[in-house]
Amino acid sequence: DLPLPAVPPAPARRSSRQIHVAGVPVGGDAPVSVQSMTTTPTADVDATLQQIAELTAAGCEIVRVAVPSQDDADALPAIAAKSKIPVVADIHFQPRYVFAALDAGCAAVRVNPGNIKAFDDKVKEIATAAAAAGVPIRIGVNAGSLDRRLLAKYGKATPEALTESALWECSLFEEHGFTDLKISVKHHDPMTMVAAYRHLAAACDYPLHLGVTEAGPPPQGTVKSATAFAILLNEGIGDTIRVSLTAPPVEEVKTGLQILQSLGLRARRLEIVSCPSCGRAQVDVYSLTERVTAALDGFPHPLRVAVMGCVVNGPGEAREADLGVASGNGKGQIFAKGEVVRTVPESKIVDALVEEAMRLGEQLALE
Ligand code: SF4
Repeated sequence: DLPLPAVPPAPARRSSRQIHVAGVPVGGDAPVSVQSMTTTPTADVDATLQQIAELTAAGCEIVRVAVPSQDDADALPAIAAKSKIPVVADIHFQPRYVFAALDAGCAAVRVNPGNIKAFDDKVKEIATAAAAAGVPIRIGVNAGSLDRRLLAKYGKATPEALTESALWECSLFEEHGFTDLKISVKHHDPMTMVAAYRHLAAACDYPLHLGVTEAGPPPQGTVKSATAFAILLNEGIGDTIRVSLTAPPVEEVKTGLQILQSLGLRARRLEIVSCPSCGRAQVDVYSLTERVTAALDGFPHPLRVAVMGCVVNGPGEAREADLGVASGNGKGQIFAKGEVVRTVPESKIVDALVEEAMRLGEQLALE
Protein backbone atom coordinates (compact mmCIF):
# COMPACT_ATOMS: atom_id res chain seq x y z
CA ASP A 1 0.00 0.00 0.00
CA LEU A 2 1.42 3.37 -1.02
CA PRO A 3 0.51 6.15 1.42
CA LEU A 4 -1.24 8.98 -0.40
CA PRO A 5 -0.37 12.56 0.57
CA ALA A 6 -3.15 14.52 2.24
CA VAL A 7 -5.07 16.79 -0.14
CA PRO A 8 -6.10 20.21 1.20
CA PRO A 9 -9.89 20.58 1.48
CA ALA A 10 -11.71 22.69 -1.13
CA PRO A 11 -12.25 26.31 0.01
CA ALA A 12 -15.55 26.95 1.76
CA ARG A 13 -18.24 28.88 -0.07
CA ARG A 14 -17.87 32.62 0.37
CA SER A 15 -20.28 33.93 2.93
CA SER A 16 -22.56 36.33 1.04
CA ARG A 17 -25.73 37.99 2.16
CA GLN A 18 -28.89 36.59 0.62
CA ILE A 19 -31.27 38.52 -1.57
CA HIS A 20 -34.50 37.33 -3.19
CA VAL A 21 -35.29 37.72 -6.86
CA ALA A 22 -38.99 37.06 -6.30
CA GLY A 23 -39.07 33.39 -5.19
CA VAL A 24 -35.44 32.66 -6.12
CA PRO A 25 -32.95 33.21 -3.30
CA VAL A 26 -29.51 34.38 -4.45
CA GLY A 27 -26.51 34.27 -2.12
CA GLY A 28 -26.06 32.83 1.35
CA ASP A 29 -26.67 29.09 1.24
CA ALA A 30 -28.98 29.23 -1.81
CA PRO A 31 -28.08 26.96 -4.71
CA VAL A 32 -26.20 28.76 -7.50
CA SER A 33 -28.94 29.78 -9.93
CA VAL A 34 -28.85 29.86 -13.73
CA GLN A 35 -29.89 32.91 -15.71
CA SER A 36 -30.21 33.95 -19.30
CA MET A 37 -31.42 36.92 -21.31
CA THR A 38 -34.03 37.04 -24.03
CA THR A 39 -33.04 38.03 -27.56
CA THR A 40 -36.50 39.00 -28.81
CA PRO A 41 -37.58 42.66 -28.89
CA THR A 42 -39.10 43.00 -25.41
CA ALA A 43 -41.98 45.03 -26.86
CA ASP A 44 -43.01 41.87 -28.75
CA VAL A 45 -44.79 40.35 -25.76
CA ASP A 46 -45.80 37.07 -27.40
CA ALA A 47 -42.35 36.34 -28.83
CA THR A 48 -40.67 37.27 -25.55
CA LEU A 49 -43.02 35.10 -23.48
CA GLN A 50 -42.51 32.24 -25.92
CA GLN A 51 -38.75 32.50 -25.53
CA ILE A 52 -39.07 32.74 -21.74
CA ALA A 53 -41.18 29.56 -21.79
CA GLU A 54 -38.46 27.78 -23.79
CA LEU A 55 -35.80 29.02 -21.36
CA THR A 56 -37.90 27.90 -18.38
CA ALA A 57 -38.34 24.43 -19.89
CA ALA A 58 -34.55 24.23 -20.34
CA GLY A 59 -34.01 24.96 -16.62
CA CYS A 60 -33.53 28.73 -16.58
CA GLU A 61 -34.36 30.16 -13.14
CA ILE A 62 -34.15 33.92 -13.69
CA VAL A 63 -34.57 35.73 -17.01
CA ARG A 64 -33.49 39.21 -18.01
CA VAL A 65 -35.14 41.36 -20.65
CA ALA A 66 -33.66 44.50 -22.19
CA VAL A 67 -35.66 47.71 -21.82
CA PRO A 68 -34.20 50.23 -24.28
CA SER A 69 -37.45 52.05 -25.21
CA GLN A 70 -40.85 53.11 -23.91
CA ASP A 71 -42.49 50.33 -25.96
CA ASP A 72 -40.35 47.80 -24.12
CA ALA A 73 -41.23 49.34 -20.77
CA ASP A 74 -44.92 49.18 -21.73
CA ALA A 75 -44.58 45.42 -22.36
CA LEU A 76 -43.19 44.68 -18.89
CA PRO A 77 -46.49 44.25 -16.97
CA ALA A 78 -47.71 41.51 -19.35
CA ILE A 79 -44.33 39.78 -19.39
CA ALA A 80 -43.82 39.93 -15.62
CA ALA A 81 -47.37 38.66 -15.01
CA LYS A 82 -47.18 35.69 -17.38
CA SER A 83 -43.57 34.55 -16.99
CA LYS A 84 -43.21 31.45 -14.78
CA ILE A 85 -39.75 32.60 -13.65
CA PRO A 86 -38.67 35.96 -12.19
CA VAL A 87 -38.11 38.68 -14.77
CA VAL A 88 -35.26 41.17 -14.40
CA ALA A 89 -35.53 44.45 -16.33
CA ASP A 90 -32.20 45.53 -17.82
CA ILE A 91 -32.06 49.32 -17.97
CA HIS A 92 -29.44 51.84 -18.95
CA PHE A 93 -29.66 55.59 -18.41
CA GLN A 94 -33.44 55.96 -18.17
CA PRO A 95 -34.73 56.29 -14.58
CA ARG A 96 -38.34 56.34 -15.81
CA TYR A 97 -38.00 52.79 -17.12
CA VAL A 98 -36.80 51.70 -13.67
CA PHE A 99 -40.01 53.04 -12.12
CA ALA A 100 -42.00 51.37 -14.90
CA ALA A 101 -40.28 48.04 -14.16
CA LEU A 102 -41.04 48.35 -10.45
CA ASP A 103 -44.69 49.19 -11.22
CA ALA A 104 -44.84 46.29 -13.68
CA GLY A 105 -43.95 43.73 -11.01
CA CYS A 106 -40.49 42.87 -12.29
CA ALA A 107 -38.57 40.77 -9.78
CA ALA A 108 -35.34 42.77 -10.06
CA VAL A 109 -33.79 45.59 -12.03
CA ARG A 110 -30.32 45.79 -13.50
CA VAL A 111 -29.27 49.42 -13.47
CA ASN A 112 -26.07 51.25 -12.71
CA PRO A 113 -26.72 54.35 -10.61
CA GLY A 114 -23.57 55.93 -12.07
CA ASN A 115 -25.43 56.16 -15.37
CA ILE A 116 -28.35 58.06 -13.87
CA LYS A 117 -26.52 60.14 -11.31
CA ALA A 118 -26.89 63.16 -13.55
CA PHE A 119 -30.66 62.93 -13.10
CA ASP A 120 -30.74 64.96 -9.86
CA ASP A 121 -31.96 62.86 -6.98
CA LYS A 122 -33.30 59.98 -9.07
CA VAL A 123 -30.92 57.51 -7.42
CA LYS A 124 -32.53 58.27 -4.08
CA GLU A 125 -36.00 57.91 -5.59
CA ILE A 126 -35.08 54.58 -7.14
CA ALA A 127 -33.61 53.34 -3.86
CA THR A 128 -36.79 54.33 -2.04
CA ALA A 129 -39.12 52.82 -4.64
CA ALA A 130 -37.14 49.56 -4.94
CA ALA A 131 -37.01 49.20 -1.16
CA ALA A 132 -40.78 49.78 -0.92
CA ALA A 133 -41.38 47.14 -3.63
CA GLY A 134 -38.89 44.68 -2.06
CA VAL A 135 -37.09 44.51 -5.39
CA PRO A 136 -33.32 43.98 -5.51
CA ILE A 137 -31.04 45.75 -7.97
CA ARG A 138 -28.10 44.30 -9.87
CA ILE A 139 -25.20 46.57 -10.48
CA GLY A 140 -23.50 45.34 -13.62
CA VAL A 141 -20.08 46.70 -14.45
CA ASN A 142 -18.75 45.78 -17.89
CA ALA A 143 -15.23 46.32 -19.16
CA GLY A 144 -16.62 47.98 -22.29
CA SER A 145 -18.59 50.62 -20.43
CA LEU A 146 -16.27 51.40 -17.56
CA ASP A 147 -16.58 54.82 -15.99
CA ARG A 148 -14.23 57.34 -17.70
CA ARG A 149 -12.79 58.44 -14.37
CA LEU A 150 -11.65 54.88 -13.60
CA LEU A 151 -10.36 54.33 -17.12
CA ALA A 152 -8.19 57.41 -16.64
CA LYS A 153 -7.01 56.20 -13.24
CA TYR A 154 -6.16 52.61 -14.25
CA GLY A 155 -5.45 53.05 -17.98
CA LYS A 156 -7.76 50.17 -18.91
CA ALA A 157 -10.40 47.84 -17.48
CA THR A 158 -8.17 46.09 -14.94
CA PRO A 159 -9.65 43.86 -12.22
CA GLU A 160 -9.03 46.66 -9.74
CA ALA A 161 -10.80 49.20 -11.97
CA LEU A 162 -13.84 46.92 -12.39
CA THR A 163 -13.99 46.29 -8.66
CA GLU A 164 -13.62 49.95 -7.71
CA SER A 165 -16.30 50.85 -10.22
CA ALA A 166 -18.73 48.28 -8.78
CA LEU A 167 -18.10 49.36 -5.19
CA TRP A 168 -18.57 53.01 -6.14
CA GLU A 169 -21.87 52.17 -7.85
CA CYS A 170 -22.97 50.31 -4.70
CA SER A 171 -22.04 53.30 -2.53
CA LEU A 172 -24.47 55.49 -4.51
CA PHE A 173 -27.31 53.27 -3.28
CA GLU A 174 -25.80 52.60 0.14
CA GLU A 175 -25.83 56.32 0.94
CA HIS A 176 -29.62 56.09 0.72
CA GLY A 177 -29.70 53.02 2.94
CA PHE A 178 -30.36 50.61 0.06
CA THR A 179 -28.31 47.40 0.17
CA ASP A 180 -30.60 44.90 -1.58
CA LEU A 181 -27.93 44.49 -4.26
CA LYS A 182 -26.06 41.92 -6.27
CA ILE A 183 -23.08 42.68 -8.44
CA SER A 184 -21.42 41.58 -11.64
CA VAL A 185 -18.05 42.71 -13.01
CA LYS A 186 -17.79 41.26 -16.49
CA HIS A 187 -14.83 41.13 -18.84
CA HIS A 188 -14.34 39.22 -22.08
CA ASP A 189 -11.06 37.75 -20.83
CA PRO A 190 -11.74 34.90 -18.39
CA MET A 191 -8.65 35.41 -16.23
CA THR A 192 -9.21 39.18 -15.90
CA MET A 193 -12.79 38.41 -14.98
CA VAL A 194 -11.65 35.84 -12.39
CA ALA A 195 -9.25 38.35 -10.82
CA ALA A 196 -11.99 41.02 -10.69
CA TYR A 197 -14.43 38.70 -8.91
CA ARG A 198 -11.74 37.64 -6.44
CA HIS A 199 -11.18 41.32 -5.56
CA LEU A 200 -14.90 41.92 -5.28
CA ALA A 201 -15.46 38.80 -3.17
CA ALA A 202 -12.84 40.02 -0.71
CA ALA A 203 -14.17 43.59 -0.64
CA CYS A 204 -17.88 43.05 0.10
CA ASP A 205 -20.49 40.47 1.02
CA TYR A 206 -23.00 41.19 -1.75
CA PRO A 207 -24.07 38.16 -3.76
CA LEU A 208 -22.18 37.90 -7.05
CA HIS A 209 -23.58 37.27 -10.52
CA LEU A 210 -20.86 35.62 -12.61
CA GLY A 211 -20.46 36.32 -16.30
CA VAL A 212 -17.80 36.43 -18.98
CA THR A 213 -19.12 39.09 -21.31
CA GLU A 214 -18.91 38.92 -25.09
CA ALA A 215 -17.56 35.40 -24.71
CA GLY A 216 -18.32 34.66 -28.36
CA PRO A 217 -19.96 31.70 -30.08
CA PRO A 218 -19.62 28.10 -28.89
CA PRO A 219 -17.27 26.38 -28.38
CA GLN A 220 -15.11 29.43 -27.58
CA GLY A 221 -17.76 31.12 -25.45
CA THR A 222 -18.65 27.88 -23.70
CA VAL A 223 -15.04 27.17 -22.79
CA LYS A 224 -14.36 30.74 -21.64
CA SER A 225 -17.36 30.72 -19.30
CA ALA A 226 -16.73 27.18 -18.06
CA THR A 227 -13.08 27.98 -17.33
CA ALA A 228 -13.80 31.16 -15.40
CA PHE A 229 -16.88 29.87 -13.55
CA ALA A 230 -15.15 26.64 -12.55
CA ILE A 231 -12.21 28.49 -11.01
CA LEU A 232 -14.43 30.90 -9.09
CA LEU A 233 -17.15 28.48 -8.02
CA ASN A 234 -14.50 26.03 -6.87
CA GLU A 235 -13.14 28.82 -4.67
CA GLY A 236 -16.64 29.33 -3.29
CA ILE A 237 -17.19 32.57 -5.25
CA GLY A 238 -20.42 33.11 -7.20
CA ASP A 239 -24.12 32.95 -6.39
CA THR A 240 -25.80 33.07 -9.78
CA ILE A 241 -24.43 32.59 -13.30
CA ARG A 242 -25.14 33.68 -16.83
CA VAL A 243 -23.26 32.08 -19.69
CA SER A 244 -23.13 34.67 -22.50
CA LEU A 245 -23.07 33.03 -25.89
CA THR A 246 -23.51 34.26 -29.42
CA ALA A 247 -26.12 31.53 -29.79
CA PRO A 248 -29.79 30.98 -28.92
CA PRO A 249 -30.24 31.64 -25.19
CA VAL A 250 -31.46 28.09 -24.48
CA GLU A 251 -27.85 27.07 -25.19
CA GLU A 252 -26.71 29.43 -22.44
CA VAL A 253 -29.01 27.72 -19.95
CA LYS A 254 -27.97 24.20 -20.98
CA THR A 255 -24.30 25.20 -20.72
CA GLY A 256 -24.80 26.87 -17.34
CA LEU A 257 -26.55 23.82 -15.92
CA GLN A 258 -23.84 21.54 -17.28
CA ILE A 259 -21.14 23.64 -15.65
CA LEU A 260 -22.92 23.41 -12.30
CA GLN A 261 -23.47 19.67 -12.75
CA SER A 262 -19.82 19.11 -13.65
CA LEU A 263 -18.78 20.95 -10.48
CA GLY A 264 -21.12 18.82 -8.37
CA LEU A 265 -23.26 21.89 -7.57
CA ARG A 266 -26.36 20.45 -9.27
CA ALA A 267 -27.79 16.97 -9.47
CA ARG A 268 -27.40 15.52 -12.93
CA ARG A 269 -30.35 14.51 -15.03
CA LEU A 270 -29.32 12.89 -18.27
CA GLU A 271 -25.59 12.28 -18.63
CA ILE A 272 -24.28 10.79 -21.85
CA VAL A 273 -20.97 8.98 -21.45
CA SER A 274 -19.93 8.42 -25.04
CA CYS A 275 -16.58 7.34 -26.34
CA PRO A 276 -14.67 9.59 -28.73
CA SER A 277 -14.55 6.76 -31.31
CA CYS A 278 -11.31 5.45 -32.75
CA GLY A 279 -10.01 3.03 -35.34
CA ARG A 280 -11.64 0.13 -33.46
CA ALA A 281 -15.14 1.58 -33.74
CA GLN A 282 -17.67 -0.70 -35.40
CA VAL A 283 -20.47 1.84 -35.50
CA ASP A 284 -20.79 5.58 -36.32
CA VAL A 285 -20.43 6.71 -32.70
CA TYR A 286 -21.12 10.39 -33.48
CA SER A 287 -24.44 9.78 -35.14
CA LEU A 288 -25.49 7.07 -32.66
CA THR A 289 -24.71 9.41 -29.73
CA GLU A 290 -26.60 12.27 -31.37
CA ARG A 291 -29.66 10.08 -31.89
CA VAL A 292 -29.54 8.66 -28.33
CA THR A 293 -29.15 12.19 -26.88
CA ALA A 294 -32.09 13.49 -28.90
CA ALA A 295 -34.29 10.50 -28.06
CA LEU A 296 -33.66 10.89 -24.31
CA ASP A 297 -33.75 14.72 -24.21
CA GLY A 298 -35.89 15.83 -21.28
CA PHE A 299 -35.81 12.42 -19.55
CA PRO A 300 -37.08 13.35 -16.08
CA HIS A 301 -34.82 11.13 -13.93
CA PRO A 302 -31.07 11.10 -13.33
CA LEU A 303 -29.62 8.63 -15.82
CA ARG A 304 -26.09 7.93 -17.02
CA VAL A 305 -26.09 6.40 -20.48
CA ALA A 306 -22.94 4.99 -22.06
CA VAL A 307 -22.66 4.90 -25.85
CA MET A 308 -19.56 2.92 -26.80
CA GLY A 309 -18.30 2.17 -30.26
CA CYS A 310 -16.83 -1.31 -29.88
CA VAL A 311 -16.79 -4.43 -27.77
CA VAL A 312 -13.18 -3.93 -26.62
CA ASN A 313 -13.59 -1.10 -24.10
CA GLY A 314 -17.33 -0.70 -24.53
CA PRO A 315 -18.70 -3.31 -22.14
CA GLY A 316 -16.69 -2.00 -19.16
CA GLU A 317 -18.09 1.54 -19.46
CA ALA A 318 -21.56 0.32 -20.43
CA ARG A 319 -21.64 -1.85 -17.32
CA GLU A 320 -20.66 1.08 -15.07
CA ALA A 321 -23.47 3.30 -16.35
CA ASP A 322 -27.19 2.98 -15.56
CA LEU A 323 -27.74 2.09 -19.16
CA GLY A 324 -25.36 1.45 -22.01
CA VAL A 325 -24.61 0.01 -25.37
CA ALA A 326 -21.45 -1.62 -26.66
CA SER A 327 -21.62 -1.91 -30.43
CA GLY A 328 -19.96 -4.35 -32.78
CA ASN A 329 -20.61 -6.65 -35.74
CA GLY A 330 -23.77 -4.77 -36.69
CA LYS A 331 -25.29 -5.35 -33.24
CA GLY A 332 -25.62 -3.57 -29.93
CA GLN A 333 -25.25 -5.22 -26.56
CA ILE A 334 -27.61 -3.34 -24.25
CA PHE A 335 -26.65 -3.07 -20.59
CA ALA A 336 -28.94 -2.01 -17.76
CA LYS A 337 -27.57 -1.63 -14.25
CA GLY A 338 -24.47 -3.64 -15.10
CA GLU A 339 -26.16 -6.60 -16.80
CA VAL A 340 -26.59 -7.43 -20.47
CA VAL A 341 -30.35 -7.31 -20.92
CA ARG A 342 -30.49 -7.90 -24.64
CA THR A 343 -28.65 -7.81 -27.93
CA VAL A 344 -30.30 -5.98 -30.83
CA PRO A 345 -29.46 -5.18 -34.46
CA GLU A 346 -27.70 -1.84 -34.90
CA SER A 347 -30.84 -0.26 -36.37
CA LYS A 348 -32.73 -0.98 -33.12
CA ILE A 349 -30.15 0.33 -30.64
CA VAL A 350 -31.81 3.72 -30.04
CA ASP A 351 -35.29 2.21 -29.60
CA ALA A 352 -33.93 -0.42 -27.24
CA LEU A 353 -32.15 2.19 -25.10
CA VAL A 354 -35.28 4.33 -24.92
CA GLU A 355 -37.37 1.31 -23.86
CA GLU A 356 -34.88 0.37 -21.18
CA ALA A 357 -34.67 4.00 -20.02
CA MET A 358 -38.47 4.05 -19.62
CA ARG A 359 -38.33 0.83 -17.64
CA LEU A 360 -35.61 2.22 -15.34
CA GLY A 361 -37.56 5.49 -15.06
CA GLU A 362 -40.65 3.59 -13.87
CA GLN A 363 -38.55 1.80 -11.26
CA LEU A 364 -37.04 5.09 -10.09
CA ALA A 365 -40.49 6.66 -9.84
CA LEU A 366 -41.60 3.79 -7.55
CA GLU A 367 -38.53 4.06 -5.27
FE1 SF4 B 1 -12.41 3.15 -29.59
FE2 SF4 B 1 -13.96 1.23 -28.59
FE3 SF4 B 1 -12.83 3.07 -26.95
FE4 SF4 B 1 -14.81 3.77 -28.57
S1 SF4 B 1 -14.95 2.30 -26.89
S2 SF4 B 1 -12.88 4.87 -28.27
S3 SF4 B 1 -14.41 2.54 -30.34
S4 SF4 B 1 -11.77 1.53 -28.15
